[in-house]
Amino acid sequence: MSMTWKEAIKQIESLFEHCEAMMTSDEPVWSQDCEALKVALSALRGPTREQVERVWRGEWIAYLDGEHIMPERYYSCSKCGGRGHLSKKNFCDFCGVPMTDKAVDMVMERLEALGYGKDD
Ligand SMILES: [Zn+2]
Repeated sequence: MSMTWKEAIKQIESLFEHCEAMMTSDEPVWSQDCEALKVALSALRGPTREQVERVWRGEWIAYLDGEHIMPERYYSCSKCGGRGHLSKKNFCDFCGVPMTDKAVDMVMERLEALGYGKDD
């Protein structure tokens, strides 16, 4: 028997519901089982967009390089400090984190292509 990722999520969700219902029976072992199922579900579902935004996303920070007679505008990555001229790049050239809304969209699409994602 072979099960898809999403079918497995559904199955574990129903185990989790069962587990939570059993928690009322004062059996401490169930709380560990429930916790383990919760971790498994979260791993199968993958990161949410909010988590990607909060944990992975960086920002381009503008600064002027004062060493030149005519200061030039550069940008540095808020995650790794890597420096470049372009502020509009979707991903940091140095550490690869997403820097724009479009880049976050691309990350979410890649995660979904791998099987992570939506609760549908
Ligand atoms: Zn970076």
